Amino acid sequence: MTGDRTLRIDRAACTGRGLCAELLPELIALDEWGYPVVGQPAVPPRLRAHARRAVAACPVLALRVDRSPRDEDRPAPPRPRPRQYGTDDADDADIGT
Ligand code: SF4
Repeated sequence: MTGDRTLRIDRAACTGRGLCAELLPELIALDEWGYPVVGQPAVPPRLRAHARRAVAACPVLALRVDRSPRDEDRPAPPRPRPRQYGTDDADDADIGT
């Protein structure tokens, strides 16, 4: 795990006004209506403390920093279970066999 962090905004919860952009101008700008725009969501290590401060200051909990593991670090998705025909599956009960 690399410990990368990604900045995310819940746009439905965000009320604008841009407090986060004041606290983290390196990563967050405001659009013409005062809503935050994140240009580069990856949070560099040098800005993590600032990002945490902006997250804590958001009055509606619309801002968060997630861990974002690299693709090669992600666990493989579970493989589908092979279907077994001719057994007492629930599917057989559906057709009355
Ligand atoms: S501080 Fe929170 S509510 Fe305010 S603009 Fe940023 S994300 Fe939206």
